[in-house]
Amino acid sequence: MNSAPYVGRFAPSPTGPLHAGSLVAAVASWLDARAAGGRWLLRMEDLDYPRCEPGAADIILRQLEAYGLLWDGAMLVQTQRDAAYAAALATLQDIDAVYPCACTRSQLAQAPRNHEGEIIYPGTCRNGLPAGATARAWRVRVPDARICFHDRIRGDLQQNLAHEVGDFIVRRADGLFAYQLAVVVDDAFQGITHVVRGADLLWNTPRQVYLQTLLGLPTPVYAHVPLITNAAGQKLSKQTRASALPETGRGTVMAQALAALGHPPPSELAGAEPAEQLAWARRHWQLENVPIRPAVANTAP
Ligand code: GLU
Repeated sequence: MNSAPYVGRFAPSPTGPLHAGSLVAAVASWLDARAAGGRWLLRMEDLDYPRCEPGAADIILRQLEAYGLLWDGAMLVQTQRDAAYAAALATLQDIDAVYPCACTRSQLAQAPRNHEGEIIYPGTCRNGLPAGATARAWRVRVPDARICFHDRIRGDLQQNLAHEVGDFIVRRADGLFAYQLAVVVDDAFQGITHVVRGADLLWNTPRQVYLQTLLGLPTPVYAHVPLITNAAGQKLSKQTRASALPETGRGTVMAQALAALGHPPPSELAGAEPAEQLAWARRHWQLENVPIRPAVANTAP
């Protein structure tokens, strides 16, 4: 366990405005930090800028404020952090933990996939590029060993990266640094002690723990909160056309988010301003009351 004072964070990707699902992750991390008397930092994960939507970052900031989710200090912006990611990649190169890869997406199309639907890299370039091939991406060599980690909601978990992920990308063929590398570098830079985020990221954690080990960075304490799904059982996201958080009736939306986290506000607070509901939830926050199962959105997504 980490005994440093609590520092949490919310790290949205500005691919669109926040929706009911991202609100749940934001509320959970805010409450967990505030209930512990901790700081709550904001990081705009605009690393994959071709996928970002112009104006979405500003909208997200306004949405957080309107929902009473105020953050501490200056926001960290990933597109300004290239030098830090490059330094981390250089460290990995120095210790020979990474290698260049020439594989294209179509060459890997037939590779086996894990339960998340991700390709398990078959190791084609692990022992050197094929003759005449050009390096495109950089991959981390993973061990054939269990990576163990503790999730405060899910308990003790483990994953064998070699079997379930394969050597994974830290710098992409388009030159962008990969999320896995950036998140580890940024969590350490921001001094994050506790990560509370959506369960869609649960199985990214072993990759991140492994990178922390390689880079000599501390491992935060993790908790993955349930996702909100639409009536079809799909995660709310831009791809499933989840609608942006509404500008009216915010109290109802906040009450639904709190209910999804196992903390339904008392009926007299159900229509109250989000900040008032948050103040109540902060006093009553018990992470063990957060369910593992996802909630279904009440409103049409
Ligand atoms: N940017 C990621 C997302 O919006 C979250 C990353 C994280 O919390 O580690 O899904």
